[in-house]
Amino acid sequence: MAFADILGQERALSPLRRMLARRELPPALIFAGPQGVGKTKAALELAKALNCEAQSDDACGLCPSCVQADKGLSMDTQLIDAEYQARLKLKEKKGEGEPDEALGEKDLETLVAKQTDIKIDTIRHVLGTLAKSSFLGSWKIAALENAHLLNKPAANAMLKSLEEPPPRTLWILITHQDERLLPTIRSRCRRVRFGPLSEALVRRVLAEQGRQGPEADDAARLSGGSVSRALALLEGGCPEPEEWLNDPLAPFALADKLPRELHLSRPAVKEHLLRMAGRLRGGYASARVRAALREFAVLRRALDANASPQLVLTLAALTLQSVPPAERP
Ligand SMILES: [Zn+2]
Repeated sequence: MAFADILGQERALSPLRRMLARRELPPALIFAGPQGVGKTKAALELAKALNCEAQSDDACGLCPSCVQADKGLSMDTQLIDAEYQARLKLKEKKGEGEPDEALGEKDLETLVAKQTDIKIDTIRHVLGTLAKSSFLGSWKIAALENAHLLNKPAANAMLKSLEEPPPRTLWILITHQDERLLPTIRSRCRRVRFGPLSEALVRRVLAEQGRQGPEADDAARLSGGSVSRALALLEGGCPEPEEWLNDPLAPFALADKLPRELHLSRPAVKEHLLRMAGRLRGGYASARVRAALREFAVLRRALDANASPQLVLTLAALTLQSVPPAERP
């Protein structure tokens, strides 16, 4: 893997490569753009290239530093996501110094699902590791997934580090909702914009993962240029409301079938909401239909504000079922 393998994002990558070639980077970057278009991959590649011994505008993939990074063993790069925070919490519970293997994987999975914001303790932990200079004078990189989930105290703790950054440190704030970041944070970061992928490229990535055929083509077409959304469509199996509208248990069964990962279940529920609203198109004369459409809009906002996709889907399906058949268009 290298920058050269990240497809369809030349506009985002070429300024990064220029910065890399000169080793001149701002203390923080924001990688903004839709979900499932390669932002996290690009962040990890940037980190790898920064510490590559070849010192060019891309990672060589062969030097010891690149090899470590490819194995996910780089000591200098941290990917801060829900799992990172959940692991910190588990360690806290079980006492410092416990090896990771001692932490129950089941406990971890439950905890990961519960991480709905990025907390100050997590940021403090990251700051601690950034402050430790590495043996070889290499760069320290913290890539923060879903950076819009930083809560206020955590964002303020990070702000200090952005004002007086230790040398050779880089924050990469990855987000599909950069408007939710504090203006004080945004103003200190350089924004790199990632765009949606072409339908053909999504189809190609799906094919590389062994997903081909008419279903995969449909998913690519409906994905809006996002690989994760296409996968969610394939895995979440978003049936048309016609297939379940009259089954009283469907609202619960649909929610059960959602993928467990938030980044997959959320786009799947968005797709469900679109299909449900589509089912009521043309029925505006009915007050019940109008109320249902308003409810879908409220649920869509709740989803964006981190409500459980399972819950949102169940409520939406119940809402659609509550419109009497005679009033459905
Ligand atoms: Zn290298």
